[in-house]
Amino acid sequence: MRQSKTFIPTLKEVPNEATVQSHILMLRAGMVRSLGAGIYSFLPLGYKVVKKVCDIIRKEMESIEGQEFHLPALNPREIWEETNRVEAFGDTLFHIKNRDYVLAPTHEEIMTWHARRVLKSYKDFPQIWYQIQTKFRNEPRPRSGVLRGRQFLMKDAYSFDISSEGLDISYEKHNKAYHRIFDSCGLQYFVVGASSGAMGGSGSEEFMVPSDAGEDTVAHCKQCGYSANIEIADAIPELTNRSDESKTVYEISTPQVKSIDELCAFLQITEEHCAKSRVYIVDNSPVLVLMQGNDEVNETKLGKTLGTPFRPAHHDELQEITGADAGSIGPIGFTGRIIADRRLKDRNNLFSGANKNDFHLGGIDLTRDIPTLEYNDLRTVTSGERCIRCNEKIGVFTAIELGHIFKLGTKYSAAMGALFTDEKGDEHPIIMGSYGIGVERVIACHIEQHHDERGIVWDKSLAPFQVHLLGLNMKKDIIRETAEELYTELQNAGFEVLFDDRTDALAGFKFNDADLLGMPVQVIVGEKKLPEQKVEVKFRKTGERKDVPMDQLIQEITNYLS
Ligand code: ATP
Ligand code: MG
Repeated sequence: MRQSKTFIPTLKEVPNEATVQSHILMLRAGMVRSLGAGIYSFLPLGYKVVKKVCDIIRKEMESIEGQEFHLPALNPREIWEETNRVEAFGDTLFHIKNRDYVLAPTHEEIMTWHARRVLKSYKDFPQIWYQIQTKFRNEPRPRSGVLRGRQFLMKDAYSFDISSEGLDISYEKHNKAYHRIFDSCGLQYFVVGASSGAMGGSGSEEFMVPSDAGEDTVAHCKQCGYSANIEIADAIPELTNRSDESKTVYEISTPQVKSIDELCAFLQITEEHCAKSRVYIVDNSPVLVLMQGNDEVNETKLGKTLGTPFRPAHHDELQEITGADAGSIGPIGFTGRIIADRRLKDRNNLFSGANKNDFHLGGIDLTRDIPTLEYNDLRTVTSGERCIRCNEKIGVFTAIELGHIFKLGTKYSAAMGALFTDEKGDEHPIIMGSYGIGVERVIACHIEQHHDERGIVWDKSLAPFQVHLLGLNMKKDIIRETAEELYTELQNAGFEVLFDDRTDALAGFKFNDADLLGMPVQVIVGEKKLPEQKVEVKFRKTGERKDVPMDQLIQEITNYLS
């Protein structure tokens, strides 16, 4: 492609709207432009990379017998009502003015709708159906460029099986295909066990890229590789032992003391000796969740324990239920279900709220005072705790979710009546899996991992062009003619070439642009080397420069890229 005729509007300055590196560089390299919050137009250079990612995905999906669909983004709302997901998605779901339709945030319902019509007999299985389609989600804070768009491209695949063994096979095929896809895209990633969230189902794993730009938090053990989303991560926390002697419960006046920090300062104690209370409303009844003072409630784990929808109690509800405000609530005298985190198991001499503003209780013995107390893993793990597998210290850091594979089971098929008939003529719901990859996220993550202070440093896998040919002073006949010849020669050799043939741009400007755009190999045609029949070759990744005889250029580049 000739740069003089291609729309690649590079920017010298960092745009105000961007803080994340991939976002900054995609704007500066003229790959995308923002049309509104979380809505991006892909310009020719950016779209070329989108197509490369899609090609890699298609190749691997075909290798596991995936059949490509293209479903409508505009969906009849009534189909989404069948699985109750209009409510489950809430404000994230885009409705159009005509309330009979929604814009699809994913396509489980629509694929199941088709499956219900055509997959009737056990003989019709297994099936893997996929598509690469636009999705719409009204993300509340789209601020990281295409990493989190309100409209984005997803490869979504769905497997249909008649047994859980069949589902295991389909899931494993996707698992392997995902490794090949992300390896082919030149990404460093790791896989974590995840919570299935609004999707439902039994097993699921996420493919993650560690990055400060990430919005997911994961726990990872370098020693043994244990990885899990913080929503479900487990660790061995330090336990505080029960004291030999239990005091009796006593009341302490604690004026103005609201937080755990204030309580510790006031009583001259440490957080481990406090039990803090959080009240939730579950099926219209209050439930008190008791945590050690320095722990936070993990609401995903709590959701698993409770098994039904729940929400934190509002301020005025707290008064009504306990007689106190948050900060003075405690387990003693609380009427209703109490669940404690297992780190508090059998603890005594604890401090907690007295269910009376400005008062706390000391000397609480959980075994003695609340004999029916249930214990569960309810806490969010933190860095430095011990790995449950190998006892080494784990790290907790942020990461970007690239892809997600789910064993859905029969959640959608049962809700929508997608049934098959077995050999005996009995009907059962189809067993499903669903598997997503965010196409733009793959690109943004690639840039997060492949850039330097001068710009993008494409790995050859996703580089929009392998070679950037720069004609320095294109007004000079000898340079123009040589560069034109090399352009043809390189293309004939099978390379994708971006040819900076602009006549009015200065050399420095062209060099800066070439480093910003980041093609793996730069071929520089300048006056100095031409008399020796040589051109300069620069490898973007290392910055290494070489004078290469023109008749060896193709071989040199082929060697480098292979
Ligand atoms: P997140 O937690 O980041 O919002 P999600 O769990 O909602 O992601 P899924 O519903 O599993 O995502 O979607 C499958 C894939 O689609 C994700 O792994 C991600 O790569 C991509 N994806 C999801 N939401 C967005 C978005 N708003 N913009 C770009 N890609 C997205
Ligand atoms: Mg999401």
